Amino acid sequence: MKVNIIGAGVAGLAAGIYLQKNGIQTEIFERHSVAGGLCAGWRRGDYLINGCMHWLLGSNEGISFNTFWREIIDLDSIEFKHHDERVQFDVPGLTDRHGNSVFHFYNDIDTFEKYLLDIAPEDASSIKLWMDQVRFIGKYLDRLPPVFYDEPWWKGLWHKMKLSSLLPMLFFMMRWRKFSNYQFAERFKNPFLRKAITLLYEKEMRLQILFFVQSYANEGVAGYPLGGSLPFAQKLTESYLQKGGKLRLNCSVESIEVEDGKAKALCLKNGERAACDYVISAADWHWTMFDALGGRYLSKDQLELKQPDKEQIFYSFCILYLGVDCDMSDMAHFIRYDMGEKFASPDGTEYERLEIHLYNYDPMMAPAGKSLLAVDFQTREGEYWISLRENDYEEYKRQKQAFTDKVIGLLAEKLGDEFVSHIEMKDLTTPATYYRYTRNYLGSSQGWTPQNNVLRRLPITNRVEGVDNLYLAGHWMEAGGGLPIALKSARDTAWALSKRVNGKFIV
Ligand SMILES: Cc1cc2nc3c(=O)[nH]c(=O)nc-3n(C[C@H](O)[C@H](O)[C@H](O)COP(=O)(O)OP(=O)(O)OC[C@H]3O[C@@H](n4cnc5c(N)ncnc54)[C@H](O)[C@@H]3O)c2cc1C
Repeated sequence: MKVNIIGAGVAGLAAGIYLQKNGIQTEIFERHSVAGGLCAGWRRGDYLINGCMHWLLGSNEGISFNTFWREIIDLDSIEFKHHDERVQFDVPGLTDRHGNSVFHFYNDIDTFEKYLLDIAPEDASSIKLWMDQVRFIGKYLDRLPPVFYDEPWWKGLWHKMKLSSLLPMLFFMMRWRKFSNYQFAERFKNPFLRKAITLLYEKEMRLQILFFVQSYANEGVAGYPLGGSLPFAQKLTESYLQKGGKLRLNCSVESIEVEDGKAKALCLKNGERAACDYVISAADWHWTMFDALGGRYLSKDQLELKQPDKEQIFYSFCILYLGVDCDMSDMAHFIRYDMGEKFASPDGTEYERLEIHLYNYDPMMAPAGKSLLAVDFQTREGEYWISLRENDYEEYKRQKQAFTDKVIGLLAEKLGDEFVSHIEMKDLTTPATYYRYTRNYLGSSQGWTPQNNVLRRLPITNRVEGVDNLYLAGHWMEAGGGLPIALKSARDTAWALSKRVNGKFIV
């Protein structure tokens, strides 16, 4: 019995670990030279770049994801940082009633509420409404995500009945689904607070997401793992290898060989044929369905996803990483600057804000006396960067350099020319970077964009109709993606396969 897994991202590794724990031999085929997929980190001189994770949902007890991570990785060996503030920013042209122009977005809800009531007492009822939403979600986090499949049917039935206890959460989702922070801001009378609410994120943000993210931070279930993404991916890889899993790096899969409705083997780019009894593709969904399977096993609804709207795909990023040989430990870890006027990146996306993450709380990212910064730009123009890199590499490099210079110029406006003189490392990632290293469609960072209607499901499951022994996993399985979905989808798939093969699932 052998399962071949395509992709050693978090989903592929997690599926491999669960199956190894269930006595099922697996081999992961990964096209890149390191495992981890999007959960990546790399060194540039003195600096360790965190290519992904700012927060890990399930870092601490209080949400089911914590249990799942513990099943596959020694979570206690990782130190998590919980920030007091999510972000700090200047509210342009305005001050609070104490004369401060800086707004503090505190993570602890009691602290945040006290702060807001102090700066805007006239908005007490709207502030209370806001904080109540965040506290309300907190009461349900320990039941999220609901999982039934590990029990005998009678226990499962009881759990399904208990699902009705999540109904108030559904009403909550429906109540706020159409609102963004921009509309919410209009409820507030205090001009400073009203403006600040529109600046809570880099762009307009759905209120549901805002409340959820606040709730995670308030309950302390979404910490940042010190060292960032690289050590986390390494720990997952070690866990997989220790359980007897086989990992083949630099090994690209070209297609899945299917005969009589069964996946027989993976056809590798080097010409090899890797035979197996089952296949799990934990690689990009679009690639799996349209390339590896040649578009032969699609439902009508799935076919429509061949060329989805840009908006359907979770945004990608341009991120400028800077290493500076000066100590910036006295600054906030996350700062947002409103630049007052719009500026565009080479792909045409317009921005008004600079989002700066300063890793001054993580000693692994830079030596003492030096600092690592990341300036993020969300973009849905993945196609632009990917085709530019493929068709005109020199021009791609030139545009990257031009954008790097532009962003540094903008930073100089806020941090001063002195700051610029300390820059000794520059590294700009684009959607082409994410595509090149992970093959995610259009360089998407998290798969599909979540829909307004939470009840509307994607026409995607972890099975492929017409191929009996082929399973899927990864962040494309559920809109919103991210590490939790990568993990949960891998667990669901490992459960289904293990039940089928062994009649049980051990965690
Ligand atoms: C900048 C950034 C910040 C992020 N921050 C967070 C965060 O703070 N919290 C969070 O939860 N999530 C975050 N995410 C999202 C998270 O990183 C991803 O959702 C998650 O890592 C996806 O894991 P995956 O295993 O499903 O897919 P991937 O990581 O894409 O793994 C797929 C793997 O398959 C391999 N592969 C593809 N095609 C082939 C082939 N033909 N042959 C062999 N191998 C193949 C790829 O190389 C890759 O290793 C962030 C993402 C980015 C880009």
